[in-house]
Amino acid sequence: MEKHTLHTDIAIIGGGIAGLWALNQLRNGGYSAILFEQKALGSDQTIGSQGMIHGGIKYALSGVWSGDSHTISAMPAIWRACLAGTGKVDLRACKILSDDFYLWSSASLQSRLTSFFASKMLRGHVEKLKAADYPAPLQASAFRGQVYRLIDLVLDVPSLVQTLSNQHRQAIFSIDWHSASLRREGDRATLALPHCTVVPQRLLLTAGSGNEALISALGGATPAMQRRPLQQVLVKHRYRENFFAHCIGGSPSPRLTISSHRTRADEPVWYLGGDLATEGVDDDPDQLIDKARRELNELLPWIDLGQTQWRTLRLDRAEPRHSALLRPDSAFVGKVDTVDNTLAAWPTKLALSPDLADEIQRQLVADNILPRHQPDLSLLQSMGQPPIAAAYWDTLFQ
Ligand SMILES: Cc1cc2nc3c(=O)[nH]c(=O)nc-3n(C[C@H](O)[C@H](O)[C@H](O)COP(=O)(O)OP(=O)(O)OC[C@H]3O[C@@H](n4cnc5c(N)ncnc54)[C@H](O)[C@@H]3O)c2cc1C
Repeated sequence: MEKHTLHTDIAIIGGGIAGLWALNQLRNGGYSAILFEQKALGSDQTIGSQGMIHGGIKYALSGVWSGDSHTISAMPAIWRACLAGTGKVDLRACKILSDDFYLWSSASLQSRLTSFFASKMLRGHVEKLKAADYPAPLQASAFRGQVYRLIDLVLDVPSLVQTLSNQHRQAIFSIDWHSASLRREGDRATLALPHCTVVPQRLLLTAGSGNEALISALGGATPAMQRRPLQQVLVKHRYRENFFAHCIGGSPSPRLTISSHRTRADEPVWYLGGDLATEGVDDDPDQLIDKARRELNELLPWIDLGQTQWRTLRLDRAEPRHSALLRPDSAFVGKVDTVDNTLAAWPTKLALSPDLADEIQRQLVADNILPRHQPDLSLLQSMGQPPIAAAYWDTLFQ
């Protein structure tokens, strides 16, 4: 049977937040873009993230962020515009878990934090709270620290993935690499599928940690990727108050980060990250769970979680090699070295997805890649459509 050739402006590999956001923004901008996902949409990092759309205060604590000039400080406002339906991507159907994100310190750190947060650099990004405005888990007479409200917000990630997938569902397909392959034809990459060959003006790799294998399938060596693993802790419990906060300890990064989620059966789960997850990456899960219990007992001794169940989750954060500590404030898009038409992209943070899509669009325009093709997507129908990834708080406690 003769194979068809399907010309498209953009072919995207990988349907995490990076690929889904790019798909939405590019299609909204008039490009024909098609996305291929090998498992479920939002798998791996995206569904494992805490959903915090943050403005970079975390980096300010460690001294690698210096205020208004940086991309990340603009992100919460850009996301809020999308949530209101006035941004480049329509997130009106996405569920917001919290409009507020808090930062609290223990009594012993008060003076360091007070002068730091009063600095000009952070004006407008943080607000010191009076006791009456503290979030419920910190409203205890025994609590002696300080509490700040950040400009950050927290989204329900499964609903974010669903929202982004729904709007361009007709352009999203499953891919099975047993019967598909990336090909190098001269200086261009193409995608060979069972019934047709996809020839994109630009191939966009947004497969998270999967980018490494895709780049090497094209014979490429750069952009090089690195993985920074961590081990998060999940505790299912009976305490009904939500909590979205960083606890600041002696180190420059948050000692503990807590986000609240609900299982499908409406059971509360606290998802615990921060230093606990990065320093405990190689701990035996039981050892790490013990550490997490001790942290909660020490930091929030007045909270009774009731009956609890504990799990840990080890995940790789995928990012361009060496860039993370140098440029924590912007997303990365780079050309694959062996072909002329392929970009590899890592947002490095969920929050930076809008920056990633803007950078992709900027590079397209700089290379004179404009909307040109109108592919017949019925050629791809037989590939089927990927499902949405299930939240870890649903799968891990089964
Ligand atoms: C525990 C944790 C918590 C985090 N919390 C936050 C947070 O609160 N806020 C924040 O801003 N950032 C957070 N991050 C970072 C954020 O999650 C990531 O930067 C972001 O999700 C990366 O998205 P991505 O689309 O590049 O990759 P991924 O989310 O990993 O998605 C990659 C997708 O590509 C698919 N794929 C892989 N290989 C192939 C292939 N060969 N073919 C087709 N498809 C493929 C995968 O199945 C997956 O669907 C967190 C990260 C972790 C690990």
